[in-house]
Amino acid sequence: MADITETIEESLAGILDISNFIPRLALRATWEIGRIAVARWHLDSKMDAVNRSYNKVRNELCEVGLLAEEVYLDSIELEVALLPNFGEVGYVFERVPLALRLLGWREGVIYLPGDIPDLNTYVPGGSLINTIRHEYAHAWHWMEPDFFERSWYGKAFSIPYDDTGNTPIQDWAERKKSNRDFRRSLKNCRTPSQQERFLAREFQNEFVSEYAATLSREDLAETFMTYLKYRNSLGRFKSRPGVYKKLVAVERAVKTARRELGL
Ligand SMILES: [Zn+2]
Repeated sequence: MADITETIEESLAGILDISNFIPRLALRATWEIGRIAVARWHLDSKMDAVNRSYNKVRNELCEVGLLAEEVYLDSIELEVALLPNFGEVGYVFERVPLALRLLGWREGVIYLPGDIPDLNTYVPGGSLINTIRHEYAHAWHWMEPDFFERSWYGKAFSIPYDDTGNTPIQDWAERKKSNRDFRRSLKNCRTPSQQERFLAREFQNEFVSEYAATLSREDLAETFMTYLKYRNSLGRFKSRPGVYKKLVAVERAVKTARRELGL
């Protein structure tokens, strides 16, 4: 999540640049330090929920065979960062810039913002557990990027994990535009609202969430989150063919990894 790196660097600059003593920066720094203090103050009451969610997801990973004692994803840690949120609900650095490494950030660690924001305000139905499930996908990629360069990934998600120049939504729209049935159905919609409903349905058939359509890596992470949550009842997604295809691909990939790990 490169944009988070920038946000953090910017706000750190805001905090550390007090020596310039530009009043606006000083005010910003005071504000941020205040937010950090408040976040720490409330953290204790939230740590139970954090630990419960982390352990629940670890148990799920154990069940599907990606984690065992001292094996594979067992080494992925979760930390609550000092900084409160800047709009993000969780993040994993797959590469940490030197400046941030010096400040203690590490690669492959799942970070939650210091204030553990109310996730429902960002994503309807969002939860701590779903955030952790999502971030584990990025942590897994960080741990074994080669696994995601195999053919299964391209078949399921079309665009390579690291490709940030092409978006799943554009790729999907291009494919749809050249599909005669799709074009005919769209033409048959009589009103703009009918057209809108038709497109929303088509979108839902392909993407598990709006965020999934932004980047290939987020499509994977959102699909992985859904796979973990509904791992014993994936059939419920059959009415959303594109989503179902990705879920089955992730399920197969997990089984392959499990076999290779000997779990
Ligand atoms: Zn993500």
